[in-house]
This record gives sequence, C-alpha cells and structure tokens, in this order.
Amino acid sequence: FWNYFKQKLKENLTPVSFNTWVGSAEPLFIEGNDIHIAVPTELHKDYWERHYAEEVAIYSYKFNGIELNPIIETQEEHAKKEQPENIAPKQTNNNDSEKSGHVFHNSHLNPKYTFDSFITGSGNQMAHAAALAVAEEPGVIYNPLFIYGGVGLGKTHLMQAIGHQMIKIEPGAKVKYVTSETFANDFINSIQTRTQDDFRQEYRNVDLLLIDDIQFFAEKEGTQEEFFHTFNELHDNGKQIVMTSDRLPNEIPKLQERLVSRFKWGLSVDITAPDLETRIAILRNKAEAEHLEIPNDTLSYIAEQVDTNVRELEGALIRVQAYSTLKNADITKSIAADALKLFKLSKEKKGLSIAKIQNKVAKYYHVSINDLKGKKRVKTIVVPRQIAMYLSRELTDRSLPQIGMEFGGKDHTTVMHSCDKIAELVVSDNDIKMAINELKDELRN
Ligand code: ADP
Ligand code: MG
Repeated sequence: FWNYFKQKLKENLTPVSFNTWVGSAEPLFIEGNDIHIAVPTELHKDYWERHYAEEVAIYSYKFNGIELNPIIETQEEHAKKEQPENIAPKQTNNNDSEKSGHVFHNSHLNPKYTFDSFITGSGNQMAHAAALAVAEEPGVIYNPLFIYGGVGLGKTHLMQAIGHQMIKIEPGAKVKYVTSETFANDFINSIQTRTQDDFRQEYRNVDLLLIDDIQFFAEKEGTQEEFFHTFNELHDNGKQIVMTSDRLPNEIPKLQERLVSRFKWGLSVDITAPDLETRIAILRNKAEAEHLEIPNDTLSYIAEQVDTNVRELEGALIRVQAYSTLKNADITKSIAADALKLFKLSKEKKGLSIAKIQNKVAKYYHVSINDLKGKKRVKTIVVPRQIAMYLSRELTDRSLPQIGMEFGGKDHTTVMHSCDKIAELVVSDNDIKMAINELKDELRN
C-alpha cells in the first residue's frame, strides 16, 4: 500500500514537496485499521495531520477496501515508545513483510481485540459464547474451536479475545496467535535454517494456539503435515486450539481429510453479518471509545449504509469523522451523508459480477471468455486474464478462492500473483495503466 500511496501523491505534488513531506515519512506498522507513520519533526507531523490524513483513508480504501487511519508520530516519539518493546523477544523470520515495508507482527495480541470491546448480536452470539467458554475452560469443552464466516465480521477479534481472556484468568498461560501464513513461513524457515526443534518447541509448548485464516493452508502439503502433528500433540495434552477460516473445513480446497476430520472433533461456529441493531451498537461503542459526539439518528444512518462488513462499518465512521474535522463541523446526518457519498459509490461498484468484468475485458482485448478462464500461456491472453482477475479483486468483494473458481477453478495463489503483477504494472507501464482506467470507467457505468 505504501508504494501505491506514494505513487499517487507523487502525481500531484512538485518534487520538492513530495520529497519533503512524503519522502521523509516512514510507515511503521499497521494495527487494526491504524497505520502508524513516523515523520522527522513536530512540524512534519502537524503538516501530515492537516493534509494527508484523508488521503491515507481514501487511497487505502481504493487499494484494498480497508480505510486506514493514520497515526502520525515523530521519530523521537516513536523511538521513546520503541524502547520498552525492544526487550520483548523479536520474531526473526518475517523476511517477506520486512522487505515489502509493512510489518505485520502477529506474535502478540492486538490490545483492542478483547471481549469487552466485542458487541454481540444475532449473527455472532453463538460464536461469542463458544469463544468465552473456551477462554474460561480451555482444552475441556470445545477443542478445537473452529470459527468461520465472511471477511470483516470479527473472527480475528473474537479469536484474540480468547487469548486476552485466558491470560486475564491465568496470567502465566502461554498463548500464541499466528496467521496460517506465519505458521507456514515459520515452518519453512525452520527447515531452511535447520531449527525444526525450536519451531516445535515454540508451537507445541503453549496452552492456547490461535491460528487465523486457516484456509490459506490449502495446497501447502508440508505445512499441513506439520500442523497435523502440532495439532495432535496439543490436543493429546489437553491444550486448546482455536482456528478461523472464511469457510467450513470440508470446503477448504486440498485440505487433508485427516485434518478435516480432526477439526470436526470440537465445535464449529459461524459468524454472519450483523443486523441493524448490532451495527448501531458497534458504532456507538466505537464512537464512545473515540470520544466522538454523534447523535443517534446519525449513528442509525451510518449503520444503514454499510450492512455486510464490520470493518467497512468502522471505516465509514472514520470517514465521517475525518470529514467533519475537515469541515470543522459537528457530526450530523447531513455531514455523514456527504462523507459517505464516496463510500456508497464504491459500494455500488461491488454490485458488479465477475462475469461482467470478464465480458468487458474479453471484448477490450479481443480474446474469448474461454481463454480468460483457460490455461493458455501466451502473452496476449495471460495479460488480459491477469487484468480481469485484478479488476475482480478491486471491484468486487469476492475472495481470492472465489475469484479463482470463476476463472476455471484456479488456485487462490494464482489469483494473488496475478493481482500483484498487475498492481506492479499499473505503476510502471503506461499502456496497462490506461487500459485499467478505461476498463474501470466502463465498468462503473
Ligand atoms: P475478520 O477476522 O472476520 O475478517 P476482524 O476480526 O478483523 O474480522 O474484524 C474487523 C473489524 O471489525 C475489527 O476492527 C473488529 O474489532 C471489528 N469488529 C468486528 N465484529 C465486531 C463486534 N461484534 N464488535 C465490535 N467490533 C467488531
Ligand atoms: Mg481476520
């Protein structure tokens, strides 16, 4: 995102402004929807807060549908904060994230994701109850606990709440939270560096293991094998395992049958989209946490606009907040309506179907739909195919595996690769950039 963001600003700034304000800023890490950014001085900070806060939200939303809220700190403030944290053992093997500039360290829990801050409603009541039960009696009742549901509905939040709660009850408890990708990376790393014993020690010597987004185990044979043993060891010793996924275990492609059957030993609960009352309650809670004064009718209004994804709901609130600050006005229904116009536009875009995107791209490049869905590796087809996948990712809210399915049953990693590829070309290749812009315009109408 950072590279994309810089590129966008570069287009509108003189080189000197760009270098002074943007070039000197350094993205630190992302936590929840907050992106922490370090800048050289107080003056830079002041400038950033006045000029770029809105831009960060808008471009991060354009980039991947998540509105990031920038937290600006001076290098000095950052250095002060860093010191005590440095004492904690650092993860050694996050090569990928370090290279690409954004650091997602998942070794610790996000302090915001507690039961206290989790609002319950019809869509998540069951998952919430199961999670709390597991935190109170780990390893006893539901082992493993498997939480599944769509994007942005609170799976990660709930999972981490279990970790917090368990530590609260039993301060010495060993809790480990990782995404399935981190687990896989750690495992691969341990093979490369011949430190498999350390790896096992780290993962098998815990009281609670939280593995997020386990659908990304699809296809990873070796990792599944290792996880199978990790799982058995923990389960045999009465240690609690909690997993999340965007779907049920038996719907995860290429997940080994023996894992599927083990995941069914415990309890699977789903989270579905929150109803209006719950959405209002979530917003109210969030507004209070941020000390925002928002009248009830305005809260209801915002909750009505965003109905499928709590992360977007929070994004909407951030947008309204940013807009009211910009306008120097109290948050009212009409301010909210103005602020959310852009948001709604992007919501409408999401009504697009992948079929429609394929159609447009096929016509644009004079290739057949079958070629887009097929496997031919000639450049005249590969590029349009990748573009169609990229647009499907950008303009719809379908997941990577879902997009893969619509392209003749391709793997989600293929889709991911295509999207990355085009995202790169969009900045470096003018023809591609123009084509994408034209296609987007046409698709919007
Ligand atoms: P998922 O892992 O399912 O994609 P997350 O757990 O990341 O979703 O949730 C997205 C955002 O929405 C987080 O900021 C989370 O705190 C918030 N959220 C989701 N559900 C709730 C809820 N019931 N109450 C309060 N906040 C919620
Ligand atoms: Mg999640």
